[in-house]
Amino acid sequence: MPITTSLPVAIIGGGPAGLMAAEVISQQGIAVDLYDAMPSVGRKFLMAGKSGLNITHADALPDFLQRYGESRTHIEPLLQAFTPQQLRDWVHALGINTFVGSSGRVFPEEMKAAPLLRRWLHRLRTQGVRFHMRHQWLGFANDGTLRFMTPNGETTMRSAATVLALGGGSWARLGSTGAWVDILTAQGIPITPLKPANCGFEVNWSDHMQSRHAGQPVKSVMVAFTDQHGTRQEKQGEFVISRYGIEGSLIYPFASAIVRLIEQHGSATLYLDLLPDLDTAQIIAKLSQPRGKRSLSEHLRRTLGISGIKTALIYETTDKTTLNNPQQLAQTLKALPVTCQRPRPMDEAISTSGGIAFDALDQYLMLKQQPGTFCAGEMLDWDAPTGGYLLTACIASGYVAGQGVVEWMKKNS
Ligand SMILES: Cc1cc2nc3c(=O)[nH]c(=O)nc-3n(C[C@H](O)[C@H](O)[C@H](O)COP(=O)(O)OP(=O)(O)OC[C@H]3O[C@@H](n4cnc5c(N)ncnc54)[C@H](O)[C@@H]3O)c2cc1C
Repeated sequence: MPITTSLPVAIIGGGPAGLMAAEVISQQGIAVDLYDAMPSVGRKFLMAGKSGLNITHADALPDFLQRYGESRTHIEPLLQAFTPQQLRDWVHALGINTFVGSSGRVFPEEMKAAPLLRRWLHRLRTQGVRFHMRHQWLGFANDGTLRFMTPNGETTMRSAATVLALGGGSWARLGSTGAWVDILTAQGIPITPLKPANCGFEVNWSDHMQSRHAGQPVKSVMVAFTDQHGTRQEKQGEFVISRYGIEGSLIYPFASAIVRLIEQHGSATLYLDLLPDLDTAQIIAKLSQPRGKRSLSEHLRRTLGISGIKTALIYETTDKTTLNNPQQLAQTLKALPVTCQRPRPMDEAISTSGGIAFDALDQYLMLKQQPGTFCAGEMLDWDAPTGGYLLTACIASGYVAGQGVVEWMKKNS
């Protein structure tokens, strides 16, 4: 039976979470008005596509769920409702093929977000979704109506139900300003403070390091450290030396843990194993070969294949005594310390952790203290590394919130 209501559903925020909620609700023939503060929707989604839109990951579901760490219990029901495989099928149904790239990352065939977004918006318009751009949500008026600032001044709207999908707190110029934190906090909704996640860290590099080596990748190294729970974390991969410090795929998965260590101790030291395929004894044996008149750099290159940025890192962090002692040097090559002083500003982060506490939401992501208002996407209190896990959870949460609205409308229309 069609759901009849004189009022439309309001979706506020046109990122992937809000768009998916709009799709699920409008599919049921329910009128949907989608509001966004920006002149167009999906700006961060498009930015995510600039370097290749990693929409999801080919991990089996149990491995996939592990990536959400402490927020796994909250994300699991969302990914059970809309699985990573369903997400891939959904992309295919939009007429876009996907492929599995290196390390299981899933991309749309053209790598970009724009073709996918174009087709998605076309589908939504066909389903009757009305888009209202340059509508900045200011909060709820006393009578529960939605307040917006528009180019023509402030206005209010009534809705049968509302989905808030306002994003996290990074890349504010793309719309995700995090201004909703103050609005919802004032209403007594529990919110974990937003913090940078999937971000770079500042390191006190020398001028030489900054000017000669910024932008260079450090490949096939192992990074290790002890997290705030006393558990050793380690991973092999590559990262990039930047002018300010370090960034890249090897660092991002640990960003939240590194942020916590910095909060606790003032800084966090990571240990790099520059030669993960050799043990210390093997390195000592190689370093102990006669050096003759060769410089240490040349000796490292010939005996261990170390050169370029790795040599620069050794000179940057190691004193002379250690450099001249094969035993000590071997130990340093297996655990070269790099101290992170602070995360880069939140606005630069790929994503933010923190957000609306799951305890404040029911299983359909409806605010318990405000029936009829649902929340989705990065504005919820969860965290994941890059690799497609962010978009997958955002879209799945939009799906579940959309289903929640449909159920709510069935009961309340
Ligand atoms: C450079 C970069 C690369 C990324 N790459 C990937 C990747 O490859 N894979 C991946 O999984 N994730 C990636 N991400 C992360 C991913 O893009 C985000 O997690 C995702 O877009 C969040 O979706 P969302 O719908 O929750 O919020 P957003 O996409 O942030 O959308 C929120 C929307 O709400 C609107 N809004 C906010 N406040 C208001 C208000 N008060 N009134 C009205 N509208 C408002 C905004 O204008 C915006 O349109 C990347 C992020 C960045 C920055």
